Amino acid sequence: MAKRDYYEVLGVEKNSDDDTIKRAYRKLAMKYHPDKNKDNKEAEEKFKEACEAYEVLSDKDKRARYDQYGHAGLEGAFGNGGFSWNDFTHQGDFSDIFGGFDSIFEAFFGGGGSRRSRHNPGQMKGEDLRIEMSLSLKEIAEGVSKTVKINIKDTCQACNGTGSQDGKTKTCTQCGGQGQVRQVRQSLFGHVQTIVTCPSCKGEGKIIENKCSVCKGEGRTPQSKNINVNIPAGVSEGQYIRLRGEGNVAPRGGIRGDILVHIHEKEDEYLKREGANLYREFPITFTQAALGSEIIVPVINKKIKIKIPAGTQSGKVFKLNNQGLPQVNSSLMGDLFVQVNIVTPTNLSQEEVRILEQFKVFDDKRDLKMEKSFFDKFKDMFR
Ligand SMILES: [Zn+2]
Ligand SMILES: [Zn+2]
Repeated sequence: MAKRDYYEVLGVEKNSDDDTIKRAYRKLAMKYHPDKNKDNKEAEEKFKEACEAYEVLSDKDKRARYDQYGHAGLEGAFGNGGFSWNDFTHQGDFSDIFGGFDSIFEAFFGGGGSRRSRHNPGQMKGEDLRIEMSLSLKEIAEGVSKTVKINIKDTCQACNGTGSQDGKTKTCTQCGGQGQVRQVRQSLFGHVQTIVTCPSCKGEGKIIENKCSVCKGEGRTPQSKNINVNIPAGVSEGQYIRLRGEGNVAPRGGIRGDILVHIHEKEDEYLKREGANLYREFPITFTQAALGSEIIVPVINKKIKIKIPAGTQSGKVFKLNNQGLPQVNSSLMGDLFVQVNIVTPTNLSQEEVRILEQFKVFDDKRDLKMEKSFFDKFKDMFR
């Protein structure tokens, strides 16, 4: 499930200062506080979401990581199951309004929940663009820098983004350039005054009389651009990287949208991945297993040496610590699990048959018993 943008959750701009973020959080925390919203699942989710967003955005380091890499940048910042109550460090911040804050939190964190998407109306902003990027396990293991060609709406060269043929604009007469107008409505309770976006200039405060012929007054045109994307090592399917301010420019100026680079993982021929751990099978011969040996297992960009003890059974799983994938923004590494499977030899030569017949004399006297059930072995693999 896609996580919502933390700034969107708090309803603040990307460049908001600490005070603004704190105020926004306080407002939401009061509005959605469980004490005021008994048995209201939606409010509960909003409350949790606000706390998580505040935890990240109020922390300089976490915020910087989030700004650069999106939610992927916070992998490893919280516990395994993502953000939980133990990660929240601000429960004392507003103890003046929330008595018994701690226990209320405790009851709600831990379980997953739905996160709804909501559009945050605000300043004129260009559209976010989405790029799909497929990465091999090697690229994921090492991190990669890629140049991607993308079609974006960028500043119109002909009018320099003004949307005006002659570069001239006129201040909107209806709102006096404010972009907003007061509306007075008659209601049961008397006159109600509201402030609305100016219908004449659509909030821009300016009116273009002579529109640019190239962009038809929009101030932007479709352009092809090469952008550079740096993917940190350890990303995984479903994560995305946010390139702030690299998306479409807003019509006639304003804030640029972002580019969201969505990560997809190419299936590997030999390796399976689960989190930062890697799993693969490796064939060994009957004699390697019986006599013991050393095998060399290729794993992405490394060759891993594994000592096979004499008497190794087919299906045995070897765990190699820290030989898995790196994790985003963390020095922790996943582990590698290699399951060895004995391959029965085929197409035997006469010589081989002769030797095995001799060996069979001993084998026939062997009393075979199952040491472990298939199911136990299977469970061991994922331990
Ligand atoms: Zn133009
Ligand atoms: Zn106006």
